[in-house]
Amino acid sequence: MSRYQSPLRDIRFALFDVIDVEPLYARLGFAGAQRDLMDAVLEEAAKFTETVLAPLNAIGDQVGCSFDKETGAVTSPPGFRHAYEQFVEGGWNGLVAPERFGGQGLPESFGVALKEMIDAANLAWGNYPLLSHGATEALKHHGEAWQQEAFLKPIVEGRWTGTMCLTEPHCGTDLGLLKTRAAPNADGSFAISGTKIFITAGEHDFTENIVHLVLARLPDAPPGTKGISLFIVPKMKVGRDGAMGDRNAVRCGSIEHKMGIHGSSTCVMHFDAAQGWLIGQPNKGLMAMFTMMNTARLAVGIQGLGLADRAYQNALAYARDRLQMRSLSGAKFPDKPADPIIVHPDVRRMLLTCKSLIEGGRLLSYHAATLVDVLEHTNDAEEKKRADELLGFLTPIVKACLTEWGIECTYHALQCFGGHGYIREHGMEQLARDARITTVYEGTTGIQALDLLGRKIMQLQGAGLQQFLGMIHAFCDAQAGNAELAEFIAPLAEKANEWQALTMEIGKRAMANADEIGAASTDYLFYSGYVALAYWWARAVAAATASSSPETTTAKRETARFYFARILPRTLAHAAAIHSGTAPLLALDAALFDS
Ligand SMILES: Cc1cc2nc3c(=O)[nH]c(=O)nc-3n(C[C@H](O)[C@H](O)[C@H](O)COP(=O)(O)OP(=O)(O)OC[C@H]3O[C@@H](n4cnc5c(N)ncnc54)[C@H](O)[C@@H]3O)c2cc1C
Repeated sequence: MSRYQSPLRDIRFALFDVIDVEPLYARLGFAGAQRDLMDAVLEEAAKFTETVLAPLNAIGDQVGCSFDKETGAVTSPPGFRHAYEQFVEGGWNGLVAPERFGGQGLPESFGVALKEMIDAANLAWGNYPLLSHGATEALKHHGEAWQQEAFLKPIVEGRWTGTMCLTEPHCGTDLGLLKTRAAPNADGSFAISGTKIFITAGEHDFTENIVHLVLARLPDAPPGTKGISLFIVPKMKVGRDGAMGDRNAVRCGSIEHKMGIHGSSTCVMHFDAAQGWLIGQPNKGLMAMFTMMNTARLAVGIQGLGLADRAYQNALAYARDRLQMRSLSGAKFPDKPADPIIVHPDVRRMLLTCKSLIEGGRLLSYHAATLVDVLEHTNDAEEKKRADELLGFLTPIVKACLTEWGIECTYHALQCFGGHGYIREHGMEQLARDARITTVYEGTTGIQALDLLGRKIMQLQGAGLQQFLGMIHAFCDAQAGNAELAEFIAPLAEKANEWQALTMEIGKRAMANADEIGAASTDYLFYSGYVALAYWWARAVAAATASSSPETTTAKRETARFYFARILPRTLAHAAAIHSGTAPLLALDAALFDS
């Protein structure tokens, strides 16, 4: 079984030393976000995730969820339900929910640390509260007062959970194709009919009620994405007074058998004229969904981070312990029959790739999450607008890069174990299987790339990119005379200029041929992720030099050196692919792919 120890030291370094959240939280008015309280919460979160959730990870994978055809009931793996009860009793469910709905009102970006620990400890289990968070966001922003009263409080208290019901058999990425219908009832509610597939936590045995947020079409809705509305459809009917009534006409038809996250129920859901309530404006359901898209996508990025970190921790321990062969430059541990594999450069390549992507990714994602706090809590309209632009720009990068790196790191970590990684005993193959879904759900990597280049850069004139480049240049200027950082500043400034030029080049070509965007998008996304991480690594060295122990300073500096020498050059390949344009991708006729 794989082990997990919460990386509290690096989480604190990221939050308090590099991103420096304390003055930000004070300025935004988070009265409860004091350092001593946050430290205590982190300690407790570590205890809960290490001792309650992590030990259930393997059994969740091996036993999985089961489905009763007769009743439509889903039973979660042994221990999952009890862990949820402990989670709710500990008040974890409402950690970042507003106090007026029974939450603790802590910053979203602070909650990301808890989320990382949960995902690392037990990703499948973590999907149940994750979906409740999405429902909370939708109701918080778009629900009517009675809907918030009736649904939000039980969700925040953890008595009910939430789901997001978008996908249908013929409609995944392209939501404009969706067919689920909503017919008005005399009492102001709607009768929802249709089938949704792949619904995470659509049915389970944790709570007495499950609140589905469902995308559906009203009778007179225009076709495509302009005719989609958002409805709230509880498993057990709920009156306007919040009282729970009879069973609603919503039923789980089956659960999926999957490559990974076996402990997370993935359900086919049938709505048969089920009672639902409109949230927000008619035909504006997608806009309502977009509000919570940023937090949901950041959350899935964090899943990649958590899995990568757990895999890395285990690979590191194994590499220090496993004796195979001698170092090429002579025995490093002559008293032992062989050297531990951590002496071999190629094993170090894998470990340092993980370390640099994980710790850099932590900074990238935690910083992005602080923008959610700014967006929701600042009273300054200009600051709000800027946070919105930067968050919108960073979200697809965090979602796609951290999940793709999650897959890469879990595979590197498995490789460090050799054959022992491939067999079940050490739990490494589970982490690699579990990581695979994260680049698929909540918008595939390809779709994140289109969102970044097509929407955030081309349609919105790259406002977020300009802000991020501004941050890089300001940092480089401020550190210009700092000899400790000189080795990082020059290449970082050069990459920032290259990023700008590359963006202009794609923009020009896209004016003549829109396919240029699709041809460049995924390479552009990775290019952006690697430059963004270079910035955060330079800042990590600066912060460590200023305030950390000599060990941390050395570790950060050497890892940054590895990153700049061995990972950042991946941008060269991505830039070359982008320069090649559409021809290498589109020249071959689709009919000739199998010739
Ligand atoms: C375990 C699991 C849990 C899930 N949980 C939920 C949930 O809770 N709620 C929910 O609503 N859905 C959920 N989903 C569905 C998930 O979000 C979709 O699978 C995902 O959005 C992709 O849709 P699709 O599978 O239909 O693939 P498709 O949309 O058919 O895409 C197939 C491939 O084509 C690519 N592609 C499509 N269009 C384009 C384009 N224009 N340009 C470039 N590439 C393109 C995609 O990137 C992908 O690689 C879940 C799925 C799984 C497997």
